Amino acid sequence: MLNLKKVAEISQGECLGSCSGQVKYLLTDSRKLTLPEQVLFFAIPGKYHNGHAYIPALIKKGVSQFVVSELPEKQWLEKADFVKVHDVISALQSVAAWWRSYFSLPVIGVTGSNGKTIVKEWIAQSLGDTVRMTRTPGSYNSQIGVPLSVWMLSDGAQFGLFEAGISFPGEMEKLQTIIKPTIGLFTNLGDAHQENFSSFTQKLEEKLKLFKNADVVIYRNEGDWVSEKIEAYCTERKKFTWSFKEEADVEAQLDDGVLKVQYANQKLSLSIPFSDKASVENLMHTITLLCYLGYDSDFIYRAVAKIRAVPMRLEQKSGRAHNTIINDSYNSDLGSLSNALDFLEQQKQHPRKVLVLSDIFQSGYAKENLYKEVSVLVNAHKPDLMLGVGKDLMPYRELFHLESHFFKSTTELIAALGDFDLTDTTILLKGSRAFHFEEVDKILEEKTHRTVLEVNLNALTHNLNYFKSLLKPDADIIVMVKAFSYGSGSHEIANILQYHRVAYLAVAFADEGVDLRARGIDLPIMVMNPHISDFDSLVRYRLEPVVFDYGMLSSLGKYLVQQGERRFSVHLKLNTGMNRSGFNPSDIDNLIDELKKQPAMYVQTAFSHLASSDEPMHDKFTHDQARVYNTMCKKLELAFDRNIKKHLLNSAGIERFREYQFDYVRLGIGLYGISVADADLKQVGRLRTSIAQIRDVMPGETVGYGRSGEVENPKKIATIPIGYADGFRRILSNGRGKVFISGNLYPVIGNVCMDMTMIDITGANVEVGDEVVIFGPELPIEEVAGWLETIPYEVLTSVAARVKRIYVKD
Ligand SMILES: *Cc1c(COP(=O)(O)O)cnc(C)c1O
Repeated sequence: MLNLKKVAEISQGECLGSCSGQVKYLLTDSRKLTLPEQVLFFAIPGKYHNGHAYIPALIKKGVSQFVVSELPEKQWLEKADFVKVHDVISALQSVAAWWRSYFSLPVIGVTGSNGKTIVKEWIAQSLGDTVRMTRTPGSYNSQIGVPLSVWMLSDGAQFGLFEAGISFPGEMEKLQTIIKPTIGLFTNLGDAHQENFSSFTQKLEEKLKLFKNADVVIYRNEGDWVSEKIEAYCTERKKFTWSFKEEADVEAQLDDGVLKVQYANQKLSLSIPFSDKASVENLMHTITLLCYLGYDSDFIYRAVAKIRAVPMRLEQKSGRAHNTIINDSYNSDLGSLSNALDFLEQQKQHPRKVLVLSDIFQSGYAKENLYKEVSVLVNAHKPDLMLGVGKDLMPYRELFHLESHFFKSTTELIAALGDFDLTDTTILLKGSRAFHFEEVDKILEEKTHRTVLEVNLNALTHNLNYFKSLLKPDADIIVMVKAFSYGSGSHEIANILQYHRVAYLAVAFADEGVDLRARGIDLPIMVMNPHISDFDSLVRYRLEPVVFDYGMLSSLGKYLVQQGERRFSVHLKLNTGMNRSGFNPSDIDNLIDELKKQPAMYVQTAFSHLASSDEPMHDKFTHDQARVYNTMCKKLELAFDRNIKKHLLNSAGIERFREYQFDYVRLGIGLYGISVADADLKQVGRLRTSIAQIRDVMPGETVGYGRSGEVENPKKIATIPIGYADGFRRILSNGRGKVFISGNLYPVIGNVCMDMTMIDITGANVEVGDEVVIFGPELPIEEVAGWLETIPYEVLTSVAARVKRIYVKD
């Protein structure tokens, strides 16, 4: 067991306090604290949050062991034990490396540009419960994620499986000392994170450092410079390769959906459920590893059958009984259970939480220890109800200190589901694949038609972090969640923004703010267009109105006085050239006089809005706006003899005018992946449907209303269940709009109908049920906006309310 003295020794730090307590859990994110006992918190000074800031709060919650690079104030020093080190992340890494040194088991280290997480998951799936394995949860492959993953190695483990991702030179060496793989697997070299490397060669050399002490490196021999480079690297160690065209240990051919594999004297012929190149490559990496490990063809057949191209991610959506379902059942192990329980805990929209949990396989633990750990996690997160499924879990029912019921199988659970009141709850389905929790999901899910808007929460976080990275240290973010968060959802989006600690949310109307409060959002909320009829809600729900004219100023002022309010937060809107709303420059002296007569109001911020921050041709105007704004703010500050917080920039402004960040910026469309600076943002929304029917039409026939879809040559037509009532605008009729189906774009034929649209798929190899993407990462929203002669804002906010939103997370 580890104690703080040892931590100090390992990390060359200095102990303050008795330092004799035991360490069982390593924590780097204060939000993920569940049980304070035996926790060691690493106060990492991150890019966005400094871990040191959370020490007092953690001490209050009972945490008593810390690794820091700066000591806290004296009052806290006395209340806990500290190890002071030079670099907290290095200390975390040293602890993990030390832990790793106690294990002499085979460890597979996976790296490469793409496919790491999938290959890792597929290896785990294909080995199933034949070995006890500890692996990276999710995609914890960073400088912090890797040590946390390796820390999960436990006595019973027979195998370790870890992925390593790097963004900068010098990082892999550190990960190597923590993972110490004995078997290396290299997926491929792509252009991700290229900006930080001087060349592709440098990036490849850096990645290969993971395999420094490995016995063997597994990779694809493509006969190109990458393969040559790896081969050269392998003169000091074994290599084990696969290829479609070159000589290799494992040779493969892909023939019309059938993958033929030859290794030594074994031959396999596998029909595979996907055809995209990336999936086939990932599958080949997996098969090659199995060959290397000595599994025979029977085993590999069975293994591949277990691999399905299921999306490896968590889905959140609304259920039938005014509830929310989180479906995370593509796999289950302790790490992902812990992540899923954290995610459940972040959900504030319903008063009750329910956990549906199955047996866990592939855990690396003996059963008894495993379910003890599971119960510690579950008890700490305290869901209101637990429904356990599976014969392994059942004998340990006494360990769970909460209302719980246990079932032998998913079928039994389904039969009993009606006995539980699941209304107004958040339900987490966390199961191993074999338990088919998708059947439970189907019963609970609200049925709507097949068109859905998928909102990718990882992409949203990525984009948020990009905009944060553009900010000066003392500027903070207000996120505009008006118009149903640009069509993406209300509390679902607000919830994740709250988790990432943005400073403010801004809504257009008071109702939106009331809704957010009802769903557990505590962040300060600004209301851009308050109305007299909202005053009561503003006060009751602590919503901060924007004041933009004298009428509002005096009526709100009067109301606040009547209510006995003092220092009620308001925001002043100044008009500097947009001419939409706000006080004019010529109003400023009068405005100051009027404000001085308002005893109940406190001006939190004064802001203005740029008319053309995205267009270089209007930059001079933008600078003029900023100058006018500054002058108005100076007068206000002088009159009130204090600083008033300021904000001017919207998304495009954040990217183009860093000098005007002031105290806050107001992020809107950028969060959804639109950049004016060609930044590497991710598309958050993906509007998709599926083919409902396919038919052949002959020359002379027509398609759709008004017979406008004329057919000159024989055509194949697909009908998709999306129409103008879903926001698929009628102007896209007759070839103007296109949709994306398995790799290609196909045009609309005829007129778009209210609920359906016909697509010309002549020549395509597609079937009923195939996915159709209207916009998304495959078909950028900017392009769709172009066909519509509008801007991405309108496309996003036009997706109708009846289109179900599903939130996904890797
Ligand atoms: C909508 C809005 C924003 C956000 O604009 P984006 O261009 O979407 O970033 C900022 N400020 C105000 C006042 C807004 O109305």
